[in-house]
Amino acid sequence: MNIALLGSTGSVGKNALKVIDSFADLKVTVLAAKQNATLLYEQAVRYRPKMVVIYDEKKRKDLAKALPFTQVVSGLDGLMESVRLSDVDAAVFALSGSKAVGPCLAALEEGKRILLANKEILVSAGSLIMQACERKNGLILPIDSEHAAIHQCLRSGKKSELKKIILTASGGPFFRYSKEELSAVTLAQALKHPKWSMGSKITIDSSTLMNKGLEIIEAMHLFSLKPEEISVVVHPESIVHSFVEYRDGNLIAQLAEPDMKIPLQYALTYPERREIKKSSFSFVENPSLTFYAPDRKAFPCLALAEKALREKSSFSCALNAANETLVERFLQEKISWKEIGEKLEEILSLHQSRDLLSLYDVRQVDLEARSKALEV
Ligand code: MG
Repeated sequence: MNIALLGSTGSVGKNALKVIDSFADLKVTVLAAKQNATLLYEQAVRYRPKMVVIYDEKKRKDLAKALPFTQVVSGLDGLMESVRLSDVDAAVFALSGSKAVGPCLAALEEGKRILLANKEILVSAGSLIMQACERKNGLILPIDSEHAAIHQCLRSGKKSELKKIILTASGGPFFRYSKEELSAVTLAQALKHPKWSMGSKITIDSSTLMNKGLEIIEAMHLFSLKPEEISVVVHPESIVHSFVEYRDGNLIAQLAEPDMKIPLQYALTYPERREIKKSSFSFVENPSLTFYAPDRKAFPCLALAEKALREKSSFSCALNAANETLVERFLQEKISWKEIGEKLEEILSLHQSRDLLSLYDVRQVDLEARSKALEV
């Protein structure tokens, strides 16, 4: 299988390369990164892809000069071109942000298999993406641990037999913090996730529980579920990655060590299950698995995402875009952690939700929400 790896210099991308390294039949055809030209250069020298994409236009020339053996393109157009290449079989979406919606649609239109780590794609354009997937008889495989878990749990029953899915949340670094404590949290604290080492956007989303919010919206589209079939439970150990409850009272759980390579390998080698170099999971070393209800008052981002499940599609598109901008502002230390949720509530309280019928609609709502999020 020839793979376009979009987001190759991020944490998912680097882990994907480790999985690809262990199987001779997995090959890298495209490498794409946002701006880390140094690492992208090293990866390109090692993997010799057909095409390299550097999202940052300013860095294209130098990179092209340094990589004479391959084609170097840039920007959104570069991403689109790269996923359309005829020898690409599957595209791994490991870059963050809703900018990936267009390239994902393009890849589906060309009949490529989609391996999805990016959450913003389905949150901002879930209906469009799933319709394109259906029309093209495509396949979207999740890489996110929770969705990979549900994907596996769903293999033990029929869709019509399902009662609900239960997504687990680690709770993030501020699990059980009081309102007062949450008012004083710093950027450095928010960037320290207790279980996973990931990029800054998703790490902040985990601290606000927006990560779980995006995941429930994503799950609704990916598995075509009704809002009432989706629930969340906090599970700080991050060993159970999700459950599916069937109508007959049976619950199927998927458990694994919190290691990104496990869901990555599941998606990259699907429908096979191949050997992984790991010692067996030890229940004795992990004797306690605990579960708690999420605190929606302290973490309003989760409540907003749950509301989005019941609204028309522009609501989740705006929620995602405004959140991306607010997280960026928090990372620049222009707003406080608590203001991410507060400002998001304020923006969405004025949003009149409507159906998004085209990529143009998605972009309009996305841009509008971004500019609002810069003003509030
Ligand atoms: Mg996850």
